[in-house]
Amino acid sequence: MKKLEQIYEGKAKKVFATDNPDYVIVSYKDDATAFNGQKRGTIVGKGVVNNKVSNHFFKLLESKGIPPHYVKQLSDRETVVKKVSIVPVEVIVRNKAAGSFSKRMGVPEGSMLLCPVLEFSYKNDELCDPFFNSYYIRALGLATDEEIEKIEEYSFRVNDILSEYLKGFGVELIDFKLEFGRFHGDIILADEISPDTGRFWDIETGKKLDKDRFRRDLGNVEEAYREIIRRLMGE
Ligand code: UDP
Repeated sequence: MKKLEQIYEGKAKKVFATDNPDYVIVSYKDDATAFNGQKRGTIVGKGVVNNKVSNHFFKLLESKGIPPHYVKQLSDRETVVKKVSIVPVEVIVRNKAAGSFSKRMGVPEGSMLLCPVLEFSYKNDELCDPFFNSYYIRALGLATDEEIEKIEEYSFRVNDILSEYLKGFGVELIDFKLEFGRFHGDIILADEISPDTGRFWDIETGKKLDKDRFRRDLGNVEEAYREIIRRLMGE
């Protein structure tokens, strides 16, 4: 497959066209942003970790019946994915309180939740990704009832599969964000699942092994990303 011109550059990835109209190549960068782009920096090696970890998760999920946009890893930073049209909805699944949930609900970080929580926000940087619900999604014509149902079903299954899997490596999945896309009429999992988009805590010590180390200036950011890839993939 031929890599053609760059068609998009986001905060953490670049996207290139290919000679197959159904496929694009994503290239993961080391650039890090937080708080809707207000905090910027570099996490050396992050792009490599996120590319490999995300692909690793997508392959696992695919084997359990959840269709991802993942096609083939080309190199440390580059992966061929199906060219989807992104549903502009961010889905967050939470197992324990953290981040904006703790703030909004006045619940300390790390508090148990009685059941997993699924929430939606509107993927719109200008509006700072406002929190919304399925009525908004329907009313704005962002997705159909059937698509919303599929997105919710897949999201809870991803939570079950990844929570169980990560436990085996001494990692607790606190929360994570998913994005979905449409490909030839079907809803499939898109974007990435990585320490940039999920909270991973050491089960024993509660040590944060994710982007909160960057957001909150906790130090040892690169080490945390390396620790995740080391535990999951032995690298
Ligand atoms: N998240 C993300 N992108 C976003 C917002 C959230 O990947 O634009 C992830 C974040 O890394 C965390 C989970 O979704 O794992 C829940 O984030 P939360 O709403 O607590 O947001 P934050 O604390 O970042 O404000």
